[in-house]
Amino acid sequence: MIIGKIRYNEDLLDGLIKVVKEKGIREGGVFLIGALQSAKVGYYDQSSKKYIEIDLPFPQEIVSGIGNVSLKDDEQFIHLHLSLSDSNGNMRGGHLLKGCKVFACEYIIIPSRDLNLQRKYDEQTGLFLLKD
Ligand code: ZN
Repeated sequence: MIIGKIRYNEDLLDGLIKVVKEKGIREGGVFLIGALQSAKVGYYDQSSKKYIEIDLPFPQEIVSGIGNVSLKDDEQFIHLHLSLSDSNGNMRGGHLLKGCKVFACEYIIIPSRDLNLQRKYDEQTGLFLLKD
């Protein structure tokens, strides 16, 4: 298990990709807590099969982030969902997109081996899902 932090001002998604690449982690579980200065998350519209981008340009707590690292075209790919809370404790969230500016973030990565976590395009959903 690896525990570490993503630095102030870093992009959360870029920071996580950097960590798994530096540590040579190709698959496993990812968990995180912390706070963002501003956020951008996605909502996958199932009929248009496109992500709607949701801008949340204000400070929020990362109540929880949960996801995984797998391989897409032999490159590390992070799939993570964020639960965020604002100054009133109201929750929002969604699929982690580039554009989340870190205030503070602590992650836990649990690398796995030999699960062959690879992503492949899925016609039915329009998503790159884990291969059967
Ligand atoms: Zn997602």
